[in-house]
Amino acid sequence: MKAFLVNPDVCNGCHNCQIVCKDEHCGNDWSPYAKPQPDTGQFWCKLEERVRGTVPLTRISYWPVIGAQDEALREYAPEILQDREDGIIVIDPEKAAGRKDVADKFEGVYWNERLQIPQGCTGCAHLLDNGWSVPRCVDACMTDALLWVDEADIPENAEKLSEGSHVYYVNFPKRFIGATVVDYAADEVVIGARVMLKDAQGAVVAQTETDDFGDFIFKQVDAASFTVEIAKDGYELQSIAVDTHDADVNLNYVDFKAVA
Ligand code: SF4
Ligand code: SF4
Repeated sequence: MKAFLVNPDVCNGCHNCQIVCKDEHCGNDWSPYAKPQPDTGQFWCKLEERVRGTVPLTRISYWPVIGAQDEALREYAPEILQDREDGIIVIDPEKAAGRKDVADKFEGVYWNERLQIPQGCTGCAHLLDNGWSVPRCVDACMTDALLWVDEADIPENAEKLSEGSHVYYVNFPKRFIGATVVDYAADEVVIGARVMLKDAQGAVVAQTETDDFGDFIFKQVDAASFTVEIAKDGYELQSIAVDTHDADVNLNYVDFKAVA
């Protein structure tokens, strides 16, 4: 059984996966696998993005979402799918004629008004059955952010956007906490300060040091309540309550005072 493995940490947002999916399926009739996708309105592979943090500490995270490759579809309407031993879900254009309910029910499945059929990602089964080792979108990904792997090789910590999906994610963006530590009296950033991230019970969950610009950042932090502690010989301990439940946190410029 094959599956998609997405790593948003190395996805640069180039949109290649989304574009080549369109190139492969818009205007091309791959019957019996798939009828042509309309030029507009459907994204069998759709790039999502999240702008994170606030100026001057910002990041953008990208990840592709591939719908239709979901066992929920097989459970809901097995009669409209093609029989395949490799587990790829292919909506049969003939068997699915008139089944608008399928497009209405599943976000990654689209209704083709002209052809009166539901459509979605076919795993590019027409290519895989004709010598390709990976689907078109995976072939176009230059950073290995989108891979086609044996489902048995999916890392244990991988996540899915829905229970039955054959699209897995590692390094799905969580939260970050960052700041620049400044000694305003000396008019300098503070380099090499020790920064600890403590959870609500006071346990240290991560630690780092400020860099040559006085900056620090904790990445892939859970949505939770934390305390950031900043320490350095000759300075007063700085302790800041942080809540990442709703968003990434930019603490901006932290006033770090030397001991009087
Ligand atoms: S496998 Fe093919 S149909 Fe599915 S998202 Fe990728 S390019 Fe599109
Ligand atoms: S082709 Fe790869 S790097 Fe480019 S947007 Fe898609 S997943 Fe990201």
